[in-house]
Order: sequence, then structure tokens, then C-alpha cells
Amino acid sequence: ALSERLESAWKSLRGQDKISESNVQSALREVRRALLEADVNLEVVKTFVAQVREQALGAQVIAGVTPDQQFIKIVNDELVRVMGETNAPLAQAGTPPTIVLMAGLQGTGKTTATAKLALHLRKQNRTTMLVATDVYRPAAVDQLVTLGRQIDVPVFELGTEANPVDIARQGVAQAKTDGIDTVIVDTAGRLQIDPKMMAELADIKQAIQPHEVLLVVDAMTGQEAANLTRTFHDEIGITGAVLTKLDGDSRGGAALSVRQISGQPIKFVGVGEKVEALQPFYPDRMASRILGMGDVLTLVEKAQEEIDIADAEKMQKKIMEAEFDFDDFLKQMRLMKRMGSLGGIMKMIPGMGKLSSEQLEQGETQLKRVEAMINSMTRQERKNPKLLSGSPSRRRRIAKGSGYGDKDVGKLVSDFQKMRSLMQQMGSGGGMPGMGGGMP
Ligand code: GDP
Ligand code: MG
Repeated sequence: ALSERLESAWKSLRGQDKISESNVQSALREVRRALLEADVNLEVVKTFVAQVREQALGAQVIAGVTPDQQFIKIVNDELVRVMGETNAPLAQAGTPPTIVLMAGLQGTGKTTATAKLALHLRKQNRTTMLVATDVYRPAAVDQLVTLGRQIDVPVFELGTEANPVDIARQGVAQAKTDGIDTVIVDTAGRLQIDPKMMAELADIKQAIQPHEVLLVVDAMTGQEAANLTRTFHDEIGITGAVLTKLDGDSRGGAALSVRQISGQPIKFVGVGEKVEALQPFYPDRMASRILGMGDVLTLVEKAQEEIDIADAEKMQKKIMEAEFDFDDFLKQMRLMKRMGSLGGIMKMIPGMGKLSSEQLEQGETQLKRVEAMINSMTRQERKNPKLLSGSPSRRRRIAKGSGYGDKDVGKLVSDFQKMRSLMQQMGSGGGMPGMGGGMP
């Protein structure tokens, strides 16, 4: 899978301080290779990699995530952007019927998608009629009729003797008469693109003036998807695409090519043989699918949400000036808790993991203890931790209030002091390694 191929791209960034010109090169090379191996068109790959490079070099380092995680996010965001950001819904004509023309090679799933789309529209209370213009194979008309019966949608057909253009024209006229909301015209396909098929499709389009021309693309076709899209778009003009057979072992490369080459959105995806197996296309979901990195993306997004750069700088300043107090400590602990398991986060933060590993190994439990003890401190004590190191009675009061022992409070206070001096050392050394001038 593409995600596996990209693994080494992330690896080349792992352990680096930040994304820079020199260390981003090898990561980009891996992205390029991975996309090419996923059969994404070369042009598409070049444009894509150039964009990712620009984004990566200009990126502000986010505290709390590693450079490889941040790079994944950049690649992901660029994938989402190329694929169109949001879902593009099916066109709807001001005056019904909305006319949809299905196009594509034979076996890609046009006829199936025609029925799937009808079922999808019915869930939105839109009535449909299907039109069977594939007269070259008797079974094709039967297939659509059977599907129509299965989902209880009328199918317009004139057998296999009539002319496809006439069938399409009459079918649309019938839909108008019947007050149908959307008429979907299924067409014939060939195994390869051939001029006769293209000419017939162009004639049908000319005759019915569709609001929507959907190119049906088999997700398994990879590199071919690019050429196919270009040919259909140049000769017929498409308004969108349906990417089928995504339930199979497809590499997702087709999604990237179709959008980049035609500039038209993928509107739906087919995820199975059943008529229910159609879903709206969401670029963000497709990007996650291609990258297979959902967890990391969530982590980076959370980190972005929680920490704004100004805050990080403020914290850095506090650390340098030894003003980092128990309130800041609690804030950081809570932030980390929200970002995921404490242990996992601690590993990313060099100083912290080293500081009191035996405590931090206890993860969530430890966080609860610390929270309880800090909550039992007065405002003054939180702001001025020194008050605690010099006063056993204060520590005893906190121990009582939090339900922990005097020793626990003593340990918290001494650990905090140790951590603070460690942070100061790192702070004066020009930021913490791996954090890009950030904070714990
Ligand atoms: P057409 O020649 O373009 O009209 O293609 P069909 O609609 O007849 O579909 C060809 C084959 O692909 C049939 O066996 C379908 O069941 C199958 N098919 C269509 N869409 C999907 C899909 O999304 N997933 C899977 N697994 N099979 C599909
Ligand atoms: Mg068909």
C-alpha cells in the first residue's frame, strides 16, 4: 500500500530537530517514489511534490509533535487540497429533471453506479429514472432493468435495436413528462477508448445537454486513470467522477490523478457490488486512506489546536526566567493528557522522560495524583513553588487536602524543582532538542 511505501519517508525525518532543506529532500524523494509506484501520473506527482516541499520548508514548527509527524500532516493537507477540500454534491437543475450522463470504459461499474446513484438520490427524496442506452450487449439492458426493479426505480429502454442517441433523447423526454427529478443515462463502454464510442457519447451529450457528466473510473486502474480522464475530459467534457471498486485493494492513486488532470471533483465512491455501496467522496477521508496515518494526524491537529505559537514563546520565556510555576505545570500536564497517553507523549519530550521516568511510567494515575495535589495548593503556593520547599506545614496541609501522603507532596515539590532547573539548562541552550524552541 501507499502508506507502507511512505513509511521510510517518515523515518528519514524521525529524530530530526525540525524540517529543513537538507532533511526534507530524502523525505520528498520517498513521497515521489511512493506516488509513482501507486501509479499516480508523473505530472501530478511533480506538481504535488513541489507543493509539499514549499509547505514543509515554510512550516512553523509545532510544539508537541515531531518533525516526521508534522511532515505527514503537510502531505495530508496537500492531498486534501489537490482532491478538492470538501465534498462536491451532485448538480441539481433549477428546473427538473436534472440530467446525468454516465461515461467510462466497460466494466468500470457504470451500470452499477447508475443504480447506486438512484438509490442515493431517493434517500434525499429525489425521484429518478434510469435510461438504458447500451444496446451492444443484450445483457446490458437486462442488467439495468433488473437493478431498477430491485430498487423500485423506473427504467426507460427501447431494446437493443434502437439508436442510443434516440433512446437517450426519448428517455429524457419521458422523465420530463413524468415529473421525474433526476434522469440518469447509462451508456455503453468499450474495453479501450475508441473513437466510435467517443463519437456516440458526444452525440448523446449534444442531444440531451446533461447537467452532469460523470466519468466512472475503476480505482484499480492506477496510471491508466490519468490518460483515461484526459481523453474523456478533452473529448466529451466531464463535470465530475465516480471512483469505483474502492473496496478492493486499490492504492488510491487514481483519486489524485482524476482531480488534478480534469480539475473536476470526484463526487462519489463505489465501495462494493451491492446497490447500497455508494458514498459521497470526502477528500480528507481519502487522504487518510492513502496515507493510513489517521492517529498521527489527529495528534498533530490536537497539538495545533491546543498550543498556539505565542503561548509556546511565553512558556519558553517563563522557563528561562525561572517563572515556570505549578499552574504552568498543571496546564502542560493537562495538555499532554488530552494529546494522548502520557507515556507516549513523554517519549517525545527528551528532558521529561529522563527526569522521573519511574513516576511517569505510571501514566494516568500519576497525573491524577499530581492534579489532586496541585489542586490542594493555594494560589500563592502554585505561583511560588519555593513556599513549599521551606514549609513542612504547608506540605502537610496539601497532603491532607489531596488524600496523599506527606512524602508524595515532598516528592512532587522536589521533582518539580529538579525539572525546572533542567528546563532552564535546556532553555539557555537554545531550545529543547526536537521541540524547535518549544516547551514541554
Ligand atoms: P459497466 O460495464 O461499466 O456498466 O460495469 P458494471 O456496472 O456492469 O460493473 C462491472 C462489474 O464490477 C460488476 O461485476 C459489478 O458488480 C462490479 N462493480 C461495480 N462497482 C463496484 C464496486 O464499487 N466494488 C466492487 N467490488 N465491484 C463493483
Ligand atoms: Mg454497463
